[in-house]
Amino acid sequence: MQQKKFDVIIIGAGLSGIAAGIRLAMFDKKVCILEKHSIPGGLNSYYKRGKRLLDVGLHAMTNFAPQGSRGKPLTKLLKQLRIPYGDFALAPQNYSKIVFADSTLKFSNELELLKEQINTQFPDQVDGFNRLITMIGEFNETALDNEYQSAKEVVSNYISNDILKEMIFFPLLIYGSAWENDMDFSQFAIMFKSIFLEGFSRPVGGVRTILDLLMKKFSNLGGIVEYRSGVEQVLSKNGKACGVKLESGDTILASTVLSSIGNPETMKLIESQSEPAARSGSMSFTETIMTYGQRPKDFGEEAAIVFYNDSNIYDYRCPDSLYDKKSAVICFSNNFAVDDFDEGIVRMTNIANYSQWKNLSKEDYKKNKELVLSDAKALLKSYSPSFADDHNFSDVFTPLTVEKFTSRIGGAVYGSPDKLRTGETELDSLYVCGTDQGFLGIVGAMLSGISMANLHVLSKN
Ligand SMILES: Cc1cc2nc3c(=O)[nH]c(=O)nc-3n(C[C@H](O)[C@H](O)[C@H](O)COP(=O)(O)OP(=O)(O)OC[C@H]3O[C@@H](n4cnc5c(N)ncnc54)[C@H](O)[C@@H]3O)c2cc1C
Repeated sequence: MQQKKFDVIIIGAGLSGIAAGIRLAMFDKKVCILEKHSIPGGLNSYYKRGKRLLDVGLHAMTNFAPQGSRGKPLTKLLKQLRIPYGDFALAPQNYSKIVFADSTLKFSNELELLKEQINTQFPDQVDGFNRLITMIGEFNETALDNEYQSAKEVVSNYISNDILKEMIFFPLLIYGSAWENDMDFSQFAIMFKSIFLEGFSRPVGGVRTILDLLMKKFSNLGGIVEYRSGVEQVLSKNGKACGVKLESGDTILASTVLSSIGNPETMKLIESQSEPAARSGSMSFTETIMTYGQRPKDFGEEAAIVFYNDSNIYDYRCPDSLYDKKSAVICFSNNFAVDDFDEGIVRMTNIANYSQWKNLSKEDYKKNKELVLSDAKALLKSYSPSFADDHNFSDVFTPLTVEKFTSRIGGAVYGSPDKLRTGETELDSLYVCGTDQGFLGIVGAMLSGISMANLHVLSKN
């Protein structure tokens, strides 16, 4: 049988892998994406329950940019992949909220709302907040040689009120930090811009709108994608990657291998790995999805995303218990400019402990999923007492579900705290893209795939 040979093999059909694939195929590279699961999307895929098509990860897409804006991550990404703006069908959020015990801050895709809120509730912090915005605007968060810097330390030079500082950190940590209770300042700047300066939107039709579009584009460009094709080993010769061996035993050859599956996960595929393994991340989550006969606005709720914390200190760390009940992200998916659902939908994310879930018996696992649901309903009622008591449908997934369908060690949604900014690994021609290159979320992961394809393949030709 003839050995398959490509210019580039991409491990993983998550958003970074697909974006890299399109970019390379646009320049006539022979590309093959190998995906372990039976559908694309990875951490941001979809699944079916009865008649309902549910998004795995999508609350909102960060990095919103209105049509016609220039130089923003979203517009750069569309330009690099030659996708017309309208094809993503983005519906901007109404607004979002950060709710703490003693204060609530609203923010939207217009920075002015957040500034007004800070002005009213923390007037002595306004100057510092404005200085922070200027500094972040001038900071190059994507420079590949940025070293780790504690964001909490940097931000303390600008914001002296502890409650405000905690409130600002909450959305940025829970939407993208592999580090507990702090984050790398470059990551902070990426998240700050993507959430507070740019904002949230949701593709009408959910993440499938984007995935279908991307997969069609990839295949029209001649790209090959093989599902149910888990990679077991990266093959190398004289310190240079030269292909992969699949779990089926087949081998496929390529001059370059791009891996989107994570830093420690990729290291495990290198046979001769000599360096100490990268750390696995510890941040994982439970996700509860509930549908209702009425829409959130019928209960007086107009916010798209609510970052809810029952005290004035936000504790972002792997909890000692199965899941953290003190804080949650509540997503009201109907509350974007276009409501394409035929029912009310609420999603709730709680920080969770993978090891605790892993140690449960089958019976206890089931029981505890029911507890997650009843606690989610209780938290929703305590946040919004007028909300309906009864839901039509619900589903809960745990860190074990994340691990099962994405192969992320420990269900670590934001990957390892050890990022590989340049994408380089100990093997020549093996590069990491996506979450563990340091860029995540839908837009971040795609930009990472594109930039690694540009840097390590296209600019070399
Ligand atoms: C619950 C949840 C909520 C989220 N909410 C949002 C949100 O609201 N907005 C947002 O922008 N982002 C959100 N995210 C984050 C976002 O989904 C991710 O940051 C992004 O999708 C990561 O893409 P990636 O390409 O880096 O990695 P992945 O999506 O992990 O892609 C890697 C792919 O590699 C495959 N793979 C793994 N091992 C192998 C192997 N050995 N061989 C072959 N294939 C393999 C996996 O199956 C996977 O498809 C959320 C994630 C979750 C889980």
